[in-house]
Amino acid sequence: MKQSIEEIEVAGKRVLIRVDFNVPMSQGVITDDRRLRMTLPSIKSVLSRGGKVTLLSHLGRPAGEGFEEQFSLSPVAIRLSELLEQPVSFSDEDTSSLIILRENLRFNAGEKTGNEEFARALAEGADIYCNDAFGTAHRNHASLVAVPQVMEGKPRVAGLLLSQELHYLNHVIAHGEHPFVAILGGAKVSDKMGAIEQLLGKVDTILIGGALAYTFLVASGEEVGSSLVESNRIDEARRVLDLVVTSKTSIVLPSDHICVQTIESGAPFQIENGSIPDGWMGVDIGPETMATFSHFISEAKTIVWNGPMGVFEIEPFEIGTKGVAFAIAKATVNSAISIVGGGDTAAAISAFELEGKMTHISTGGGASLQMLEGKTFSSVNLLDDAV
Ligand code: ADP
Ligand code: MG
Repeated sequence: MKQSIEEIEVAGKRVLIRVDFNVPMSQGVITDDRRLRMTLPSIKSVLSRGGKVTLLSHLGRPAGEGFEEQFSLSPVAIRLSELLEQPVSFSDEDTSSLIILRENLRFNAGEKTGNEEFARALAEGADIYCNDAFGTAHRNHASLVAVPQVMEGKPRVAGLLLSQELHYLNHVIAHGEHPFVAILGGAKVSDKMGAIEQLLGKVDTILIGGALAYTFLVASGEEVGSSLVESNRIDEARRVLDLVVTSKTSIVLPSDHICVQTIESGAPFQIENGSIPDGWMGVDIGPETMATFSHFISEAKTIVWNGPMGVFEIEPFEIGTKGVAFAIAKATVNSAISIVGGGDTAAAISAFELEGKMTHISTGGGASLQMLEGKTFSSVNLLDDAV
């Protein structure tokens, strides 16, 4: 457990908080301010106890050669000020205002290279370092690693959002109550293989849907037509399936599929049981698979989900993903713990209006996947342990 911002004295101190304000923007307008709202508890915790905050964030992928209008955090400062109902000073020179937001860190190439001089400049005047940027915690950028390094000797703590993410993705997953079911889906088996291997032996059942199922089905000798298969991963998938034979974990692959000839809205589709004919590709799990997956989910006490079950962006092919989401929501009502990661998976859940029904939806796509792979982050290791 890492020391949390809530547990330390902040009165009269300036707290440097690394947040993840990398919000989606369209023509200078923030289209989703969830990432801003998620950091309010940490900011308010400091302010309400008489502390001051300086916020650091990146936005998008500027060149690292100075100011670029389209990547300015200026709209974020305005929105944050509305959310906090307090002025937010948006200046790199200001050292005294109650709430300061610095301009996009990535305007300086030193952020990505982890430059120490840049880190010293950021750390100047700060009494406490706080990391509340889970979405970026897997990166070794200056604001995440070099800054806490140069602030050694001062308190370095986790923000409330980071603490919550670590609690669920680390602690709860490591000590998950059984039956423990993992559901993995999405586009690429190569993205999720590390997580699957890490979960082997830890969970009771891994349900595999989405495109990654097809590489596993090929590895198990099934015909998958023209479904998305990563041919350079078939051997690895076969090795995983072999491991399962002697593992306490079982892997369940789809037994039926929703198939199309072209992936597009309005394309005619049919249900295929078992093998998929030439020229057809699986774009969603079929009804029999849905029933099997739902059954496992309904009996689970701990559920981890990462990756949609099908091409959920196209309406008729969202059914598998929706079914899994509702099954998890129902299990959660019946006291299961549900932990969801992945940007597209989170987007699907919010489209189904099930956000409030899951125990925890991670704010970090890449970071949550790396935690499932059992990786640890320098940015987190550098923080003080809870006493
Ligand atoms: P997440 O962001 O939640 O980790 P991914 O990025 O791994 O999820 O995967 C999401 C993508 O996977 C979606 O764009 C979806 O269309 C695609 N996908 C899911 N199932 C299939 C399939 N059977 N064939 C092709 N693409 C698929
Ligand atoms: Mg994705």
